[in-house]
Amino acid sequence: MSRGGVSMLSVAEALERILAAVPVLGAESVALSEALGRILAEPVVAAREVPPWDNSSMDGYAVRAGDTAGASADRPIVLTVVGEVTAGRVPTAALGPGQTYRILTGAPLPDGSDAVVPQEDVSGDGRHIRLVRPVDRGAFVRRRGEDIHAGDPVLEPGTVLHPAALGVLATLGSPRVRVHQRPRVAVLSTGDELVEPEMPLGPGQIANSNTYTLAGLVTEAGGVPINLGIARDRPEELEERFRWGLSADALVSSAGVSVGDRDFVRDVLTRLGAELSFWRVNMRPGKPITFGVLRGRPVFGLPGNPVSAMVTFELFVGPAIRRMAGARVLHRPRARARALAAIDNPGSRWGYLRVRLARDREGLGARPTGEQGSGILTSMLRADGLAVLPPDTRVEPGESVEVILLRSDLDPSP
Ligand code: AMP
Ligand code: MG
Repeated sequence: MSRGGVSMLSVAEALERILAAVPVLGAESVALSEALGRILAEPVVAAREVPPWDNSSMDGYAVRAGDTAGASADRPIVLTVVGEVTAGRVPTAALGPGQTYRILTGAPLPDGSDAVVPQEDVSGDGRHIRLVRPVDRGAFVRRRGEDIHAGDPVLEPGTVLHPAALGVLATLGSPRVRVHQRPRVAVLSTGDELVEPEMPLGPGQIANSNTYTLAGLVTEAGGVPINLGIARDRPEELEERFRWGLSADALVSSAGVSVGDRDFVRDVLTRLGAELSFWRVNMRPGKPITFGVLRGRPVFGLPGNPVSAMVTFELFVGPAIRRMAGARVLHRPRARARALAAIDNPGSRWGYLRVRLARDREGLGARPTGEQGSGILTSMLRADGLAVLPPDTRVEPGESVEVILLRSDLDPSP
């Protein structure tokens, strides 16, 4: 396998290759109660009117607005109460001239009525009501179909099902919904030095953290992580574990992907039949990263450094998982922020620097989280965003910088 001659890809080119290669998974039907966060696989067209009939938005009296014309304190209008209707019941008679119906919120309007007077606006003895003001036609009436008309397109495929979308599906009478399958993503950590967090550290050992950050990111992106554990830096063991991962829809490994003597990931993937599309991307952290297709599945060899693994996941794996899951929006939102302290990106690579964001009267402000080394995992812990800086640039305090937002509660969109 050639290691030398391949030039470094830009982040945009790498992403383009990835997105061109990942398949969108098929659909399945799930109960509404299971559908939160899933991605709609087909358009939803309303099969009924919402609300299904004109109904009252207040407790009060259904009237014919025309009967109330000219009502005033000097010349009150008196109407005769001919019935009562509560939510869940239907009126048993139509309103004639001079008549009214006691009506409660959510109850259907009697035929002949076209407005509701709130009960606090009338006086009466239970058999009659007195109005001292005219009532507008349609007042306090929720019209049939005012929310949704039958035949209206309501939800587009690719929409993430938030609680309101589940409510709309329920109100339209759909107990189940067709959503995309969730990509199952196998996560493999590699390295002789790694032990699981429950183990004491022997000489030269560190705890495996990438499995946990990457599995968390898989879940956040809408996938289902499958933990393949830790592979030692031996080709046979890597090969065996990658084979286990073939039951998944995509594979993500970390470490062992650079040019060191013990970096076997690319060779093993190639031996298993993967077509590797690239192995270096112009970014910092995270230059060594490989992507390819292994028997129809996307496979990512992320760098081992904990920050590099997370940042390359954010840029490349997250969008791929969202594409597989059928989502329309593949990327984290971006925003412009004002540097609150200098943000420095020396060197020849594009920088993705961890920043903490704060909103003040002048908008969004960004401050580096401190030490930016690719092993400083707490820089990700403190980061709300990644400031994107071209090679060899320094953003001075007060200058504007582009930021990838890692937390949706900072989304600047109104
Ligand atoms: P490598 O790419 O194999 O040279 O690994 C780069 C750095 O990342 C080394 O310092 C590794 O010890 C560290 N590293 C690799 N895998 C993990 C992991 N799963 N959890 C934490 N650190 C790791
Ligand atoms: Mg290693």
